[in-house]
Amino acid sequence: MPTEEQLAWDARVRQTAFDWLNQMTGGQQTTITWQDILKFKEMNPWGVVLANRQRGIFKPKEMVGALSLKSSPPRNRNDRPFVYNDDYSEEGYLRYSEQASQDEDNANVRRAYEHRLPMVYLKGIAEGIYRATFPIYVIGYDSKQRQYLIDVSGANPDTGRVDFQFAAKSEVGKSYVSRTVEVREHQRDFRALVMTAYRTTCAVCALKHGELLDAAHVIGDREAGGIAAVKNGLALCKIHHSAFDSHVLGVDPDYTVHIREDILHEIDGPMLKYGLQSHHGQRLRVVPEKTPERPQRELLAHRFEQFKAAV
Ligand SMILES: [Zn+2]
Repeated sequence: MPTEEQLAWDARVRQTAFDWLNQMTGGQQTTITWQDILKFKEMNPWGVVLANRQRGIFKPKEMVGALSLKSSPPRNRNDRPFVYNDDYSEEGYLRYSEQASQDEDNANVRRAYEHRLPMVYLKGIAEGIYRATFPIYVIGYDSKQRQYLIDVSGANPDTGRVDFQFAAKSEVGKSYVSRTVEVREHQRDFRALVMTAYRTTCAVCALKHGELLDAAHVIGDREAGGIAAVKNGLALCKIHHSAFDSHVLGVDPDYTVHIREDILHEIDGPMLKYGLQSHHGQRLRVVPEKTPERPQRELLAHRFEQFKAAV
């Protein structure tokens, strides 16, 4: 059993890691590179490492339980219409597979469960790029699927938690909670992927402030074809996102920006002139380097029809 002192120190290290990650990711708004994750070692007085390249489950040896869980980016990402490689339980918990025959890792996760230690989840978005979620808590173990159940909601686990070891319930009919968590997590993944592909830059005006940027859907996610893949996305600043959504601004299949006719001829202040009218006829300033990640022409064509129809 760890002493009170060990637990107190362990808690301090975790808080330091969360504070640092908060700063690095703008409050979990942006992704973090593997190079940056390595810098944590120099940024804390104890020289504690945050994660290990080879291992999914990581516990610094001085600590009481696991500190981080890591997942690899999906392979052949460009071939897939959907980008998600996570699985959620019907209660809305992330399922994280046990590491095959790594007894030590598993003991470390179990200790994190027993002492309710908050951890970090580093989800692989692309090669060397992660989305950090924290604090997360282990809430149980599904011995049938050999998966840990992880609460990623950020809430402190309540005291009446289920027993660590329990069998999977049937997956028939996912609950509302589960879908809410899944949808939110997938929206965050979509944003992370789009921001990575566009190097956190508005495609229309090249603004580079992450906190002022959104990951817009070309075809809305409630519409048919509104897939959550980067090729159905655009990084847009708040103004251009709103303009795109209200059909004030359109993008044709050749990546040329159009401003709605009546607005083009309106006379008003500098916001209208520079913020909107001046972009008419220009090409998108930024598109992803990788061709399969660029906005798909068929999707843009469909959306552009809606723009032309809206006057
Ligand atoms: Zn913009």
